[in-house]
Amino acid sequence: MAIITISTDQLADIQGHGEQAYPQECCGLLVGHEQAPGFFIVTRIAPSPNMSKHNTKDSFEVDAQVRFDVMRALENTSDDIIGHYHSHPDHPAKPSETDMDMAYEGQFIWLITAINKAQAMETKAWRLDQTTRTSEPLTLLVSEAGDV
Ligand SMILES: [Zn+2]
Repeated sequence: MAIITISTDQLADIQGHGEQAYPQECCGLLVGHEQAPGFFIVTRIAPSPNMSKHNTKDSFEVDAQVRFDVMRALENTSDDIIGHYHSHPDHPAKPSETDMDMAYEGQFIWLITAINKAQAMETKAWRLDQTTRTSEPLTLLVSEAGDV
């Protein structure tokens, strides 16, 4: 099973974003790299407005401009966009059918935070396989320091 490490500050920012966006879904990008096979580390998060043209209470879309800006900033660095995060207002922190429909990028890590009545609950990490419509959980490690 793969492992993804995130700092307490980054996790707090993601949960705060989810609470602030409630009852809409929040979203953003996860920037980082693979330290060793199967060991991913998030070095920064990039919050995005939710650009979904569907109901933003159960769908999200990262702003193409945010993604473009992040990719440009990452040129000639060892970091990459390794995934994204979004919130599930009043739903569990596991991939929905809508998420499965959107899982084009098989290597992407999905971080999902459950928000219950504007309060952040658990956050879980997943990888989605659109071909089989299954999801695989990753171990989410929360560290004080960040890069180790
Ligand atoms: Zn979702």
